[in-house]
Amino acid sequence: MAGQLIIKQGKEKALLRKHPWVFTGAVAKIKGKPGLGDTVDVLDSKGQFLGRAAYSPHSQICARVWTFNAQETIDLAFFQRRFARAQRMREDTLPEHTTGYRLIAGESDGLPGITIDIYANWIVCQLLSAGAELQRGLIVESLRAEFPNHSIYERSDVDVRKKEGLTPVTGLLHGTEQPPAELVIEENGLKLYVDIVNGHKTGYYLDQRDARQAIKKYAKGKRVLNCFSYTGGFGLYAASAGARYVRNLDMSQPALDMAAKNLQLNNLTSSHVEHVQGDVFQLLRDYQTNPEQEKFDVIVLDPPKFVDSKASLTRACRGYKDINRLAAKLLNPGGVLLTFSCSGLLSTELFQKVVADGVLDAGRDMQIIERTFQAADHPVFLPYPEGLYLKGLIVRLMN
Ligand code: SAH
Repeated sequence: MAGQLIIKQGKEKALLRKHPWVFTGAVAKIKGKPGLGDTVDVLDSKGQFLGRAAYSPHSQICARVWTFNAQETIDLAFFQRRFARAQRMREDTLPEHTTGYRLIAGESDGLPGITIDIYANWIVCQLLSAGAELQRGLIVESLRAEFPNHSIYERSDVDVRKKEGLTPVTGLLHGTEQPPAELVIEENGLKLYVDIVNGHKTGYYLDQRDARQAIKKYAKGKRVLNCFSYTGGFGLYAASAGARYVRNLDMSQPALDMAAKNLQLNNLTSSHVEHVQGDVFQLLRDYQTNPEQEKFDVIVLDPPKFVDSKASLTRACRGYKDINRLAAKLLNPGGVLLTFSCSGLLSTELFQKVVADGVLDAGRDMQIIERTFQAADHPVFLPYPEGLYLKGLIVRLMN
């Protein structure tokens, strides 16, 4: 053990409830000289074991608990057990014909600071914390044992690493060849290209799988506007369900190019689909000036994370309200809006209120007919509510 963190009396409660974070303010004393990412024992003021954690000296969250079991050591077998357990859950819960999924959702899978996504025979790792970084060797070795036929690629090019005193890293971790430019996954029976080298995050937004499936119920014969489309997932599902017309909007031209290729890959080119590059805020405003032509039966709003700190919450709410107001105005009678927020700091309740405010300002009456959340391969460890970040409302115009 590289050291011990002694927790102030009264500050051990969250750890006793198995919340995996230790904040600097809760630490009374550090014994030994633990380095970046080293494994430390976390003890209460009386010396009782609370957890075994990775030390992050540069972060406000100065330790993340690997295990609450005093008998468990952080070694190759530990990571193998965690990966095998996570894989079993996915095998039990993933829908059929789905080869892209999140294997490890950090804290919620008992591996803080680690995100691992599987895309067919490729594994993509994001190591976000000092502890994850230090354990890179064991992580790769145990992944190879659990998935002997997969190649492994790293996409640790994320800002949060700065808070941990780490620099961005990308590249091959295991395998003989670089990732293919045209890697194909299946999702609910649809095929999608995923660019794990240049794509957003690890390549694709796996968390919205259930919401994409949900759009099929509303899309048949309809005019669909897919805002913040990325590689066109919602548009593809809508087209496959027989939408009359689909328009994908995104600021990224490479994402839109891939959206077009995804339609070809699924032989859905006969549906009328358009791709428009631009700023959704501006495009939705432009459409208001042409209310006769620019009306839709189904609108998707799946924006990027607007909130990255408590300080940005108010401004972010204005952003959510704005797009929801503009979208509500563009709906045909009986129209359906699928609206999402992936900002963990925005609660489900507050999101609902912000959408309600936007719709009210649009002069519309709408009702919630369905709620969505991140898919089951993005679980939420019960004592760790921070694990819930993605929520969606499917709301319908009442007249
Ligand atoms: N719905 C997608 C995921 C959307 S991720 C899916 O199912 O896969 C958010 C997307 O919004 C990204 O592709 C990003 O390029 C795009 N984006 C961010 N800000 C934007 C803006 N102001 N206007 C248009 N697109 C934007």
